[in-house]
Formats: sequence, C-alpha cells, structure tokens
Amino acid sequence: MVSPALSETPSALPSPEARPGGATPPLRGARRALVLFVLQGLPLLGLGHGLWRLHHTGISGLEVGLLVGMYLLTMTGVELGFHRYFSHRTFETTRPLRAGLLVLGSMAGQGSALLWSGVHRWHHAHTDVPGDLHSPTLGRQGAWQRVRGFFWSQFLWYLDAPAIARFGRFLDAHRASPETLLASAEDSQESRLARTLPDLLRDAWLVRLNQRYGLWVLLGFALPAAVGGLATGTWDGALGGLVWGGFVRFFLVQQVTFAINSVTHTVGTRPLETRDDSRNNAVMAVLTLGAGWHNNHHAFPGSAFTGLRWWQVDPLGLLLRLLARLGWVWDVRAPSPEAIAARLRR
Ligand SMILES: [Zn+2]
Ligand SMILES: [Zn+2]
Repeated sequence: MVSPALSETPSALPSPEARPGGATPPLRGARRALVLFVLQGLPLLGLGHGLWRLHHTGISGLEVGLLVGMYLLTMTGVELGFHRYFSHRTFETTRPLRAGLLVLGSMAGQGSALLWSGVHRWHHAHTDVPGDLHSPTLGRQGAWQRVRGFFWSQFLWYLDAPAIARFGRFLDAHRASPETLLASAEDSQESRLARTLPDLLRDAWLVRLNQRYGLWVLLGFALPAAVGGLATGTWDGALGGLVWGGFVRFFLVQQVTFAINSVTHTVGTRPLETRDDSRNNAVMAVLTLGAGWHNNHHAFPGSAFTGLRWWQVDPLGLLLRLLARLGWVWDVRAPSPEAIAARLRR
C-alpha cells in the first residue's frame, strides 16, 4: 500500500528566485472591498445571525448535526481533496472519489481546486522566503511586526495576491489550450500560478468540473438548507440549516484552514529539520483532521499521512487507510522510518 514519500518539491514548481507579483495589477478600491466583503464580511454576518438565533431560539439537535456534518465533509474536501490529493498527489483514487473530493472542497469557498493547489504548490516552493503568498514571518522583525504578520496571514493575505480574484476567468480563457499556457513565459501572477499545475491542467475532465466552482459553493449552502427544511417541513427549519450548516460552518472552516498559514507557522514544535518556520500543533491537528502536524508535512510534503508518531492523531490518514483497504485508493505514499529518523533535529 505504501511507497517512499517525496521530500523534495516536484520539478514543475517555480524556482525559489521567482517573485509572486509579476505583471498582475494589485487589487484596489471597490474591487478590493468587494473581495474582502465576500470572503470575510458575509461569513461574519452569517456567524452573527447564528449567534443571534442561538440567543433567541437556541439550537436544535438537527442544526448541531448539520453544522458538525458539513464541517467534517468540507474540511475533508479541503484537507484530503485539495491538499493531499490535488496539491500533492500523495495517493491515487477513482474518478467518482476525485469528483466528490473536488465538490466537497469547493463547498468550503476557499477558491477552486486548481486555484487552491496553485497557491499551495507555490507556498511549498517558497515557504517563508520571498515569493510565499501567505507567510506570517517573512520579513517580520520584532514582536509587533510578528503580530501584524500573524493577523495578515490569517485574515488579509489574499488581498495582496490579486491573481486569486482573476484566476477563474484566466483559466476559462485558456481552457482550450493548456499546452500554450504551460509553455508561456507570461509574467502575470495568474500565469505563474497556472504553470505550477501541469498535471491538473492537462486533465480536461477535471478542469471542466473545476470551472463549475460557483455552483459547488452554492451547493454547500443549499444542501444543509434543503436537509433542514425537509426534515422539519418548515421554512424556519430550512433557514436554520442554511445558517448553521452553511454560513457558520463556512466561517469556521475558513478560519481554521487559514490558521494553518498563521498558527502552524508561528506556534508549536519543530521536531523535524526544514528550511522554514513550520510547526506541529496538536490543537490545529484535531481541528483540521490532521493538517496541524505542519512541520511533519513540510518535511515530507509527498506523504499522504501527516501523523508520523503513533500519538500524532491524523483522522484523514486513518480514513485513507480504510479507503485503501476497500480498494478505493492506491499508491498511498508514506516516508520510511529511516527517512523520518534522518530528518529529526538534534
Ligand atoms: Zn506551510
Ligand atoms: Zn502542503
């Protein structure tokens, strides 16, 4: 079931000298405000409404179930799908499971699978060095700067990565000619991110599914609303499902995922030798179903498993083992005990 993990970065990645900005104009004015409102304002309003409902009408067992269920499903889509599968290709799986992971990850509203993977592959090629799009520590000296870096990488980093707001339209414009795009020397941030994705861009089926991103995000709200409405037979039940399984879940999954950028590059332990500030953080590991063992992950980005010791809980690693037993995933990569021992810090 397991094969040796790659600890080096794939050859398709940009060189460490590459800068992220390129020729892409920065987000300014109304467009910047709109991106901020959609990504932070709307989920915050949803959370506020959820807290208002909690105070006035409480929360039903069904609503708790929808919040927890949708959190687990979309976090699985992000961490197992977007991260371990699409970004790092740490295992292989069937087409229906690939589609399921893409849809579930998209429901988290953190960008499409291709955009998320491009930004993340870039992060691994430039971790905490010039070029990293969301490092909390890069260029930050002293306590105050570090605090600012922490909050920027938690809440605002995407405003300084203007390609993110343009990437969907950019991919659409180049959908018919992935080879031209991959061979292009265009200096825009969109083009640089796209060139980290040769394996994904050449998969026309995947690109088509990826371009329905907006539909999958809406599904992430429609699904809990439909379940809430059908289970109670009331419009208020549908609204409760929308608020708890949709908006509050969206806010929590987004903040917890972004905390991988901020918290696990500043707070935690560094048992393994890496050339960055990545940390292992047990609380983050529980909240992200395994991604919090981030120092382990940066040491072995090609590993399908983030928990490298028996006590490092990695729920999605356990799910992968189960799926492998069922024959639904294969070529699951893991580092050898010797490789892990060689990376231990002395
Ligand atoms: Zn990282
Ligand atoms: Zn990664």
